[in-house]
Amino acid sequence: MEKLSADPKFTDIEENLKVIRERVGDAAVRSGRKPEDVHLMAVTKTVAPVYINHALSCGIDLIGENRVQEFLEKEPDLNLEGVSAHLIGHLQTNKVKKIVGKVDVIQSVDSLNLAREISKHAKNAGITQDILVEINAGCEWSKFGFEPAETPERVAEIAEIEAIRVRGLMSVAPICEDKRELLKIFENIYNIFVDIKAKKSDNILMDILSMGMSGDYEEAILSGANLVRVGSAIFGPRIYYDKH
Ligand SMILES: *Cc1c(COP(=O)(O)O)cnc(C)c1O
Repeated sequence: MEKLSADPKFTDIEENLKVIRERVGDAAVRSGRKPEDVHLMAVTKTVAPVYINHALSCGIDLIGENRVQEFLEKEPDLNLEGVSAHLIGHLQTNKVKKIVGKVDVIQSVDSLNLAREISKHAKNAGITQDILVEINAGCEWSKFGFEPAETPERVAEIAEIEAIRVRGLMSVAPICEDKRELLKIFENIYNIFVDIKAKKSDNILMDILSMGMSGDYEEAILSGANLVRVGSAIFGPRIYYDKH
């Protein structure tokens, strides 16, 4: 049966997902793992709920939003049953209260102060909030995240804070023409991840390594990422508009 006047963007999303899933699976296998060992996140910032829901209907079960307000505005229109949502953008301490408990994981914890604020609101809500610790990929380009060298110590300190649980690390890599340079950056982060995991500390699960985006998810997977955050390769180029 032919679909009636379907939005052409639906077909694009389906085709993009097919290609990306294949590439993710291939990279997983090339890195000695199974396709299902790597979790594909659809990054949905600026994407309208109708398209997000279409991706969810195609089997996406993990979405990432950058901004608290945008997520909370779109959430009522999303079919999130059986779907995890993560916050992946920089989080200001004054927005923490609104998002704690509303997402499964806050990926972008980039200061002790932020971790303490999350803890405070998680405690008030009687929950444990899962988080990732953001690591600066080692370039001046990125403003956020801990320096690689200090990350193990900071992770240990954050793990001491109550009502939060460290699930792993997240990183945003610089846009890199040189793929070997990029692989080096990812591998460095992977090594830090493995070292922290090997210590088997309380309250540090280290089961998520979130790195890789539309332009570099294959390199990230080859370097050991098990969660990739892909936006524009699924939904097309983002159109930013200023609502104010
Ligand atoms: C926007 C964004 C992504 C996805 O970027 P694409 O290049 O569109 O795949 C991934 N991670 C973070 C933190 C982002 O802000």
